[in-house]
Amino acid sequence: MQQERLLKVLVIGDLGVGKTSIIKRYVHQVFSQHYRATIGVDFALKVLNWDHKTVVRLQLWDIAGQERYGNMTRVYYREAVGALVVFDMTRLSTFQAVLKWKGDLDSKVALGNGTPVPAVLLANKCDQRRHGLCPKLPKLESFCNDYGFVGWYETSAKVRRGSDRSVAVWTLICDRLS
Ligand code: GDP
Ligand code: MG
Repeated sequence: MQQERLLKVLVIGDLGVGKTSIIKRYVHQVFSQHYRATIGVDFALKVLNWDHKTVVRLQLWDIAGQERYGNMTRVYYREAVGALVVFDMTRLSTFQAVLKWKGDLDSKVALGNGTPVPAVLLANKCDQRRHGLCPKLPKLESFCNDYGFVGWYETSAKVRRGSDRSVAVWTLICDRLS
């Protein structure tokens, strides 16, 4: 018998970094289930036939215009099993905000066993790399190690680099299902 797993993944980061665009790109046509919740968040659902015995219902939670406060309520974070922390690689301030978001996440939610919710760092707008701040960025590999991200990927919601985004989300799902 097939088993259904509902996995809630948060997409957080500063205003304008591309959170909504990334979700739309990833979920693509499977965008029928799109709600505007009263608590001011949107979520999109992507159903994945993970393997012959597992169907993953992936809930990607977006922030609807609440970024300016730099933090979210516990209700938003509740029962999340993963997070994508996004910054815009053309704007240094959005990278500097990454640790604020990670701190907010870790202070408000944890997995059932008390360990931090796995978070992947996304350097979005890599199609704009030549306007980017790559030289100014610390080596992201060691940044991830130092600050507890499970990994990082360059992404672009504009050009087709779907594999990057899928990998980012799949890293979290595999982590959860294993
Ligand atoms: P959000 O506030 O984090 O949800 O950001 P949005 O998804 O609304 O994107 C903000 C702006 O950045 C919009 O004008 C998008 O078209 C643009 N944008 C988002 N992702 C990319 C990307 O990967 N490359 C480029 N060039 N623009 C992007
Ligand atoms: Mg948005």
